[in-house]
Amino acid sequence: MRNTSDSNGAYDVVVVGGGPAGAALASFLARDNHRCLILERSKFPRYHIGESLIPHTYGTFERLGLLSKLKRSSFPEKHSVRFVSRTGKTSSPFYFSERIPGEGAQTWQVERATFDKMLLDHAREQGVDIREETRVEEVLFEEERAVGVRAVQENAEPYEVHASVVIDASGGATLIGRQLGLKREVPGLKKASIWTYYRGGTRLEGIDAGETTIFRIADNGWFWYIPLPDDMVSVGVVASPEYLFRETDDRDSVFLGEVERCEPLAERLGQAQLVKPIRGGRRTLAYVNRQTCGEGWLMLGDARAFLDPIYSSGLFLALGSAELAAPCVQEALATGDVSATRLGQFEPVLSEGVEVIRRLIYAFYDPAFSFDGFVKRFPEQRGALVDCLIGDVLGKDMSSFTASLAQMTPPPGPL
Ligand SMILES: Cc1cc2nc3c(=O)[nH]c(=O)nc-3n(C[C@H](O)[C@H](O)[C@H](O)COP(=O)(O)OP(=O)(O)OC[C@H]3O[C@@H](n4cnc5c(N)ncnc54)[C@H](O)[C@@H]3O)c2cc1C
Repeated sequence: MRNTSDSNGAYDVVVVGGGPAGAALASFLARDNHRCLILERSKFPRYHIGESLIPHTYGTFERLGLLSKLKRSSFPEKHSVRFVSRTGKTSSPFYFSERIPGEGAQTWQVERATFDKMLLDHAREQGVDIREETRVEEVLFEEERAVGVRAVQENAEPYEVHASVVIDASGGATLIGRQLGLKREVPGLKKASIWTYYRGGTRLEGIDAGETTIFRIADNGWFWYIPLPDDMVSVGVVASPEYLFRETDDRDSVFLGEVERCEPLAERLGQAQLVKPIRGGRRTLAYVNRQTCGEGWLMLGDARAFLDPIYSSGLFLALGSAELAAPCVQEALATGDVSATRLGQFEPVLSEGVEVIRRLIYAFYDPAFSFDGFVKRFPEQRGALVDCLIGDVLGKDMSSFTASLAQMTPPPGPL
């Protein structure tokens, strides 16, 4: 057994959270013979929002060895994204094949309980130790350095696990961010979301059947429409909490009222049946941490930051941050140098990519901006725009794109 703890019960790496970020990082490390433990508070499969992938996850799936499992799955194939204006004017689809040749232009709309379990099971197959229904209460520090965690299973005594590196992949729970008081709101991005699932909504024909459709509404808000397996569709609204809850605090009435007001969406839903509870609420979605790595610790995925669901970049950044971090963690373990500088070597590449996405998020919420207007004014930037929509932003010079963007919408202040 190569990947179990040493005789003192210590691991090379302990990962808090078995979502996509944690499972992907642990898989990469275990394949390189590192002893990894994932502690996950839920029992998988467990529900999670965030179903739409973008194509630049394809290479990560390939390198993880997950492509064949995804291809065998019942997840709808996604080839494009399309925007519908408030008046019902539909943009032509942004097909990912415009920028990516071959198979990699396709991605999937995933039902997360199944998808996340697939990733976690895959990590187990790579030799990762996984303890589900185990909540991490706290990261243990010796002076500045993280040395392990204290964890607990229901009705049992808490216990400590020691490791050379602690990875916070706890998603929106942001374990280290909360423990060290690092979590911050994002100026100008105060959006909330409410969502649910229908069965029997209209599917488009052929290659468009699995597309994500974005329907714009008042308040610069929008709905997502994401086709899922078994004739299900995920439908959610994003807007400011002040707008959504302007008349009532009742989440269900707010959601159903917005669906009714958004005629092109209501038409798509036609006779569809609402089949799941309505979720979400007033909570502001966006946050960042003012520090994302330290001595012996690193944050990945949503534990680092979450900005906005508009471009479906969450899973891409969870998987991408894991893949970028893996060689840095390997090098730190090999050299015995677990300093923030060593562990966080990948951060500039990740942060620059996230910054491009952040610029486009602010543009989307600027009433003076439209994709059609941007592409008309800067036709040479259409390709770069599609690159953002597919996630091809890591390690690339996007300065000409962001300079053009700045001519139509003011860049947001620094984070
Ligand atoms: C409204 C909304 C819509 C979204 N839509 C999309 C979309 O269409 N496409 C997309 O790509 N992204 C979307 N996202 C974002 C996406 O859901 C996340 O980015 C993604 O789940 C991040 O993966 P992760 O592994 O970092 O975290 P998670 O998937 O949240 O995994 C974290 C894991 O850590 C566990 N955990 C937490 N605390 C502890 C603890 N103390 N001890 C042990 N375990 C713990 C949790 O149980 C969980 O399993 C959306 C987000 C929101 C809010």
